[in-house]
Amino acid sequence: MSLYYNDDQKLSMGQLSLDSLADHYQTPLIVYDQEEIEATIHKYQEGFRQGLDLSDQAKADDFYSISYASKAFSNVYLLRLMADWGLDLDVVSYGELYLALKAGFPADRIHFHGNNKSLEEIKFALQAGIGHFVADSFEEIDRINDLAQDEVDVMVRLNPGIAVQTHAYIQTGQEDSKFGFSLREGLAKQAIDKVIACPKLNFIGLHFHLGSQVQDPSVMLETAQLVLDWAHDQEIPVQFLNMGGGFSIQYQEEDVAFDVQPGIAKLAGAIMDYCQEKDYQLPKLGIEPGRSLVGHTAVTLYEVGTIKQVPGYPSYVSIDGGMSDHIRTALYGAEYTILPTTKAPSNSSWKPKQVVGKLCESGDIIGKNKPLPQSLQVGDRLAVLATGAYHYSMSSNYNLMLKPAVVFVKGKDHKLVTKRQDIDQVLQNEVFD
Ligand SMILES: *Cc1c(COP(=O)(O)O)cnc(C)c1O
Repeated sequence: MSLYYNDDQKLSMGQLSLDSLADHYQTPLIVYDQEEIEATIHKYQEGFRQGLDLSDQAKADDFYSISYASKAFSNVYLLRLMADWGLDLDVVSYGELYLALKAGFPADRIHFHGNNKSLEEIKFALQAGIGHFVADSFEEIDRINDLAQDEVDVMVRLNPGIAVQTHAYIQTGQEDSKFGFSLREGLAKQAIDKVIACPKLNFIGLHFHLGSQVQDPSVMLETAQLVLDWAHDQEIPVQFLNMGGGFSIQYQEEDVAFDVQPGIAKLAGAIMDYCQEKDYQLPKLGIEPGRSLVGHTAVTLYEVGTIKQVPGYPSYVSIDGGMSDHIRTALYGAEYTILPTTKAPSNSSWKPKQVVGKLCESGDIIGKNKPLPQSLQVGDRLAVLATGAYHYSMSSNYNLMLKPAVVFVKGKDHKLVTKRQDIDQVLQNEVFD
């Protein structure tokens, strides 16, 4: 990310020091670097253009689709940017679809995912005229067909099973999963036949999503090849092949971020070559990144409230948020880089410390044994890096904590895009009399 300590020793993003933003907006505060998001999207787009060898005149929509998985973080301002930048959008619930439409995201660029779409959700999406559904159950196929007035585009989500079980770093997309139709025992074929047989449904292609923090897209390539071979054997026409999201980002120094532009170019180019070799028609290629579009582009700022010494152990540094706005560490041990917003004096030694939240759970941890300067004091601020995905969207009001504000930085400008929650908003559904 584009973070640096400026001449005044202040950790900065764009041309602004994070402390100045914290002074202005208070903490906890999530701060996004808009230019970083835009640069990342550009890399994805260039990757496809390069890999598919597209001319400048070629229309992206005819060849590839980059669909932002809005569950990573969605908000009106960001959705409008995503629309302006030409992305498509994935939603998985009434709420995500409602927000996208309210933000003015073009309905025909929205794809509806989910393994249990309700009748209300399907009705609402049909009325809105969304681009397509990604069907994930036999029940859903019936429901869409029953409710549709006009023809509607449908993709079928596959569970590619065996193919990815051989890769230890993939945790989803395995045979035993609630997502997708298994390729085994003819289930996926049945689902596709059913879609094709439904008069209101227009089958457009196949979808799979393998899991998260995928560093090496060769597993996606292998799965794409397996799916294309399978579809060819079954005589299934594939106009569109969506390979899901899951591209990795760097949370800590030892993590390997997916190298976007060359990685996408290689993936798309290899599929094009494979189709040529096998004499398959090259489908439109889709991906759905969430984390890798925004995760690395934001930090969360906190203020240190107490520092507790525990003789014989690392001291506890308590910040003014916690698992209500940072759940991934408590949930699955996710690790982050944590930096002081003011650079420590060069003579300050760094010691491992426990950075913890203020909620009533011992598991309310932001970072275990994180190296921090001994000079760190109450009132100093800490920046937790790479909190742009699955932070705000997974935040809760546990302990009646309030959700943080969200700010976008662009160069020397900053803009509040989500206000800090206030307690009356949280309590508005209480029945007081
Ligand atoms: C969550 C999800 C994504 C995005 O995953 P990231 O790891 O954030 O890129 C894409 N597609 C589907 C179907 C998902 O469920």
